[in-house]
Amino acid sequence: MSLYTPPSFEIAVVGAGAAGLMAALWAARGGAKVVLLDGQEKAGGKILISGGGRCNVLPIDARDPVEASFHTSGSQNVLKRLFKTWKLAEIQDFVRWELEVPLVEEDDNKLFPESGKAKDVRDALVREAERCGASIVYDWRVTEIEKSDPNNSRKGFVLRSESGEELRALKVILATGGESVPATGSDGFGYRLAKKLGHKLVPTYPALVPLTTTDEALTALAGLSLPVAWRAVVEGKEVARGERSFLFTHKGYSGPAVLDASHYVIRDNATIHIAWEASTRQEWIDYLQSRARRTVSRTVADLLPNRLAALLVERSGVRGEMRCGNLTRTTFDYLLEQLCDFRLPVSGNRGFAVAEVTGGGIGLDSLDPSTLESRKTPGLYLCGEILDVFGDIGGFNFQWAFLSGKLAGECAAKPL
Ligand SMILES: Cc1cc2nc3c(=O)[nH]c(=O)nc-3n(C[C@H](O)[C@H](O)[C@H](O)COP(=O)(O)OP(=O)(O)OC[C@H]3O[C@@H](n4cnc5c(N)ncnc54)[C@H](O)[C@@H]3O)c2cc1C
Repeated sequence: MSLYTPPSFEIAVVGAGAAGLMAALWAARGGAKVVLLDGQEKAGGKILISGGGRCNVLPIDARDPVEASFHTSGSQNVLKRLFKTWKLAEIQDFVRWELEVPLVEEDDNKLFPESGKAKDVRDALVREAERCGASIVYDWRVTEIEKSDPNNSRKGFVLRSESGEELRALKVILATGGESVPATGSDGFGYRLAKKLGHKLVPTYPALVPLTTTDEALTALAGLSLPVAWRAVVEGKEVARGERSFLFTHKGYSGPAVLDASHYVIRDNATIHIAWEASTRQEWIDYLQSRARRTVSRTVADLLPNRLAALLVERSGVRGEMRCGNLTRTTFDYLLEQLCDFRLPVSGNRGFAVAEVTGGGIGLDSLDPSTLESRKTPGLYLCGEILDVFGDIGGFNFQWAFLSGKLAGECAAKPL
């Protein structure tokens, strides 16, 4: 008989990313004895690379309704309810005044740490979690979570690590993230842990991901960036639209507009229609008609970058040296199609290796929406990107990680 008793905690949080750090912090504030485990040698690997190393920590303003910025295949009502638990303004105050990270506003509705360093956000979360009493253990990759007594959930859980260590906890919060950029430690293994504990996985796919094309005339525009209005169209019906900046790359397209639109292409097989410079059909009509004596090429190039203007005029089949006033109704329409309803040719996407988040994940329907406790395994809570929720580009994903982490942490600590 072994005399060894594994270390014992009230709450074990698995995964020290944005959601797990927030969960550990609030569980510890609630008075629980908390351990936070991460398979990597440091916390918040993804926070460090976020926003190009500057961390777009939150949006400035929330969009109304919630589903204008956040996506799930689960219940929209549950999503709305979750977002009422910690309002955006309250999270901003928390970051500013309790984590003591001064924030600055930038264009496109984004908040960044004043220092311009993502590390300051990560360090502040770690500092506050530890100050509240959570113990953080690195290089502890959880490979197994089992109920201590299969017939009695009150007896808690046993967690085992890759190197054969063991610890016990009355409750477990699973915050292992999705499967995007697996080098940061979130490689999708958390889904297996959740599935073993009774949860179903909504099929996952790369989201907020650059798209690719084999159209060499378009990849030759690499480096060109401009504002666009985009529409995602499925079987002739518009399913989403937005206005943000668009970037041509050597492999295809990126920038906030493309990242936001990408999941409609990947998940729903949508085609993306682009209005360059976000100008509407009527604006183009008025503009072209008011320049009847000017050539088409010059007129289009006055509003769009030269190389793109030349390409669009060529693809419309209109001779660039024609005067705008001489366009026939049909050629006018061909030109308008290229300018404000351009069908983006897409051959694929850059995959999980570069996707900012994972679409799909553990379904919300298997959780109690007021606590994020599992309905399948009482005592288990889930939060962050492991769940079937993600947000648009612009700090929305940290908003989700923070609010779901807080809810799971607070609620797990309460009955204790
Ligand atoms: C390049 C890039 C840039 C981004 N920029 C932004 C941005 O500017 N703003 C924004 O809002 N969002 C951004 N995001 C998205 C955002 O980073 C994530 O949505 C968010 O970090 C998810 O937090 P999480 O805690 O749920 O998961 P993660 O941050 O992925 O954390 C999960 C943690 O769990 C650990 N782990 C996994 N499995 C195990 C295991 N078995 N045992 C122990 N530990 C485990 C991992 O090591 C990791 O530390 C960006 C993402 C990427 C990839």
